[in-house]
Amino acid sequence: MNIIKIILMLSISSCWLSPVAAQTDFDSERAFEDLVAQCDFGPREPNSKGAEAALKFYRDTLEPLADEFHLQNFLQDDPYGDRQLKLTNVIARFQPEKTQRIILCAHWDTRPRAEYDEYFPNKAMIGANDGASGVAVLLEIARQLQNAPVNPGIDIILFDGEDYGKSGDLQYYLLGSRYYVNHPYPPLAQQVILLDMVGDAELTIKVDPVSYRSAPRLIEEIWLLGAEIGYDQFQLQVGSSMYDDHVPFIEKGIPAIDIIDFEYPGADNKYWHTHDDTPDHCSPESLDAVGNTLLSWLYQQ
Ligand SMILES: [Zn+2]
Repeated sequence: MNIIKIILMLSISSCWLSPVAAQTDFDSERAFEDLVAQCDFGPREPNSKGAEAALKFYRDTLEPLADEFHLQNFLQDDPYGDRQLKLTNVIARFQPEKTQRIILCAHWDTRPRAEYDEYFPNKAMIGANDGASGVAVLLEIARQLQNAPVNPGIDIILFDGEDYGKSGDLQYYLLGSRYYVNHPYPPLAQQVILLDMVGDAELTIKVDPVSYRSAPRLIEEIWLLGAEIGYDQFQLQVGSSMYDDHVPFIEKGIPAIDIIDFEYPGADNKYWHTHDDTPDHCSPESLDAVGNTLLSWLYQQ
């Protein structure tokens, strides 16, 4: 009930804000090319050929841009088979000496199954939206940070193993972010912003209540800035509660939010965890709304 009242107040007060020309050089066409490039590697689940190709692509892209670059490798027993999962978090740090820091993150892995697909539920999926979209925005933000740094230090982290678990097996999701919070690179950030499923061509970003409880001001700032720039994709309304890579940070006491559109493309979420999660259901305009807003907010910090 409280959140609804606050949101109504905010939408009224936002009418009084003058529009800002908060434009950045965020190149959404280039970001979209990065989304397609990842899908062209095929499914990118742990131990796959696609994962190997994707890791090389992330390294080739991020290592020249960042001040510090790490591949954080770790092994974990496969809960669904007699093997070890080779997992890797990709970490690109900007101004690593700064103590005021923000983590920008997304998961890069894709599901080894597509359980809601009508025809091939056991086949690994390419995850254009659920996997490639958040990474695509962050790769382009990395280019912009090299051109024009922001005040805080930034850690761009691409998590592995977010989407490994079978439906309901929550303990086998979030493998990379769980590992990272126990093995962080110091100094540790004070704020975490996660991007997931931000590529939907019919983008509508509501508010995840888990995120709002963790960092209400951060949510309000970003959503209102998006609206001020003119993106109607940001909607200060209650959305679904998300169990995503922001949760391990919140559990460690670090404020963290998830920018996610969990209506892909509509309320029935019918492309989610199916083989319809493809680039043609995503768009550069959606990446632009998220990338330009987030980068504009970073330049205000
Ligand atoms: Zn997923």
